[in-house]
This record gives sequence, C-alpha cells and structure tokens, in this order.
Amino acid sequence: PDNITVGELANRMAERGADLVKALFKMGMPVTVNQPIDQDTAELLVTEFGHNIKRVSDSDVDIDASEDVDATETLLPRPPVVTIMGHVDHGKTSLLDALRGTDVVAGEAGGITQHIGAYQVTVKSGEKITFLDTPGHEAFTEMRQRGANVTDIVVLVVAADDGLRPQTIEAINHTKAAGVPMIVAINKMDKPEANPKKVREDLLQYEVIVEEMSGDVQDVEVSAMKRTGLDDLIEKILLQAELLDLKANPDRAAEGNVIEAKLDKGRGPVATVLVRRGTLRVGDIFVIGAESGKVRALIDDKGRSVKEAQPSTPVEVLGMSGTPGAGDQLSVVENESRAREVAAYRAGVIQQKRTTATPANLESMFSALR
Ligand code: GDP
Ligand code: MG
Repeated sequence: PDNITVGELANRMAERGADLVKALFKMGMPVTVNQPIDQDTAELLVTEFGHNIKRVSDSDVDIDASEDVDATETLLPRPPVVTIMGHVDHGKTSLLDALRGTDVVAGEAGGITQHIGAYQVTVKSGEKITFLDTPGHEAFTEMRQRGANVTDIVVLVVAADDGLRPQTIEAINHTKAAGVPMIVAINKMDKPEANPKKVREDLLQYEVIVEEMSGDVQDVEVSAMKRTGLDDLIEKILLQAELLDLKANPDRAAEGNVIEAKLDKGRGPVATVLVRRGTLRVGDIFVIGAESGKVRALIDDKGRSVKEAQPSTPVEVLGMSGTPGAGDQLSVVENESRAREVAAYRAGVIQQKRTTATPANLESMFSALR
C-alpha cells in the first residue's frame, strides 16, 4: 500500500495537520505535515482520533467513526479559517472590519453585514477566506479546550507604536501550543511614532523570526485605519493556506462546529456553525451537541437566506431543539429517530460528566471555606 502524507491524511479525516503532527510526536515520531507515513501508522492515527471523537460519545449509539476517513479523490480545496489575536487596543476589531470591507461580492449582493461570529470574504482573485469574528485568545483557547480546532492560521496584530505587550506574548504562546502557523500584522503604521523594526527585533526573543530577520514567519505592515497593506496581508494568508494544502470532501453528510449560539426571541435557538466537511443543506436532519433538529433555514454572514453551506463556510442554522454550546459538533444524520437517539445519548454523557465532577467542586468549595 502507498504511503500517505500527514497533511493528506489530515484532510481525509477533516482534522488539522498540526494536530496529527502533535499526535505523531507523542507517539515518538517527529515528522512534518509534508512527510509521508506508512499505512500502519496512518491506521493507528485514525484509531487514535476516532477514539478522541468517541470520548464524548462512547458507544455504538453515536455516529460511526468508520465513516471518518474520506477518499483522496473526494477532497477539494477549502478556504482557510483565520483568527486574529493580539493585545487589547492594538487594532483587532479595526482590522477585522477593514478586511470585511475588502469583500468583492458583499457590495453587489446588497446584503447587510451580520455579526454571526464569523464571516467570509471573496478576494479579487475569487478565492475565499473565512475570519472568526471573535478576536482574542479567550475564544481561541476555549474552543480548543472543547476539542474544536477550527483555526488554520493566526494573524497576530501588534501595534507598531506600542510593541509587544503581555497579551501579545500570550497570543504567541497559545498559537504555538496549538501548532497553528502565524502571520504577524504590524498595525498602526500611519502613526508617526510607528517602529516596526523594534517589533521585529523584539519578536526574536519569543522565537518568532519574521522573514525580514531571515526567519519563516510572514510579516506585513498595515494600517487598519487607513486601510493600507490589506492586499498584502490577504496575499500572505492565501500563500500560507496554499502551503497548508487545505482540503475537505464537500460531497458527504455535513459536519461542523458551533462558533456561537443564542436563544433568539423571535427565531428560537440559533447557532453559527462553521462547516468542516460535507455540505449542510436546508432540510438536513442533525445532532448538535446534545440537541437535535432539522435545518429550517440557513442564513449567511450577509443576512441572506441560503440553501446550502460548503466547507469552511460560516452559516446561521435555525431549527434545533435547544441552544448548543460553543465548540459543539454538528453532524448530519440519516433520520429523526437516529438524531433523537444520539442527542439523548450525548445528553446522558454530559449529565454523567457533571455528576462525577461534583465531588471535586464540593471539595474545593469546602477547602475555600476552611
Ligand atoms: P482591539 O482592542 O484590538 O480590537 O482594537 P480596536 O480595533 O478596538 O482599536 C483600538 C484603537 O486603535 C481604536 O481607537 C482604533 O481606532 C485605533 N486603531 C486601530 N487601528 C489603527 C490604525 O491602523 N491606525 C491608527 N492610528 N489607529 C488605529
Ligand atoms: Mg476589539
């Protein structure tokens, strides 16, 4: 049997290459995403990750992990998912707004931008990029803790007039821990006191070596306010995405992760879901965390009602029984009884976890009283 690269196996499992690399490292195999591994190792990894998936849902009641690996010929390129991190006031929100403004299809569609937790822009070349709209490392680490590694690329924003600050360092640490490639955006270049050279030099201390310092971390000077350097940043994101060779099978039952969810007065439970693989369609029956449902409507980030959502596309989903949590997994299933069965099972697992967690909580409560 042929050997497969770590990256391709990741695409076939709809996992991130970085996570497979980490698992292999733990198994005593230091390899990169582009290196091939043999069949036995590949199978071991699949079992390992299947096991992880099943941890929340450990029985034949839950979704069959054997459907987890897509055939290579079913894989198609998917847009990268980007998270913006950095110190407070360094311009994360401003940059997200500025990047949103580069969307070439938003204007012609006449849609009003909706804040649904993530948005997608189509750039001049026709390529797409998905941005998570919840900047900051809290959202990032919380999602990771819930086992939802949705971010492919981190853009680290550093204000050129302020340099590295505590949350900048935290963001670097989180990004490294997650094994996600980083692009440094040196912002506020319009300010007279901007000192990008100092930013690049100070980054060395944290082993972030940008290209200008002969390293391999891409960096770009921008001004979110004056909207300069944005094309350059987009180009670098796309280059990084190309290196990652991100792919997914769009032609299967959809799977995705909840980015945020709320109970809307008029519309009921609403969840923004980022589709990881497959295509989510109106009418699909699904399980989402411990809830189940049938897609009543899909609303995109421009507020338009759409019929389907492809991999890496964020979309608001309506039609579930209750409000799921951030990071929860959505899986499309074959019928309603199956959906209820899996949801009930998951609810049981969650309940069990809470019960077993109680003694520890009581313990710490009592020790706090002492
Ligand atoms: P966040 O806390 O990282 O989300 O930062 P914000 O986007 O809220 O920006 C913080 C402040 O910096 C705001 O007053 C922005 O107007 C300002 N700001 C953001 N980007 C730039 C920039 O490129 N140039 C200048 N001069 N100010 C900026
Ligand atoms: Mg902000």
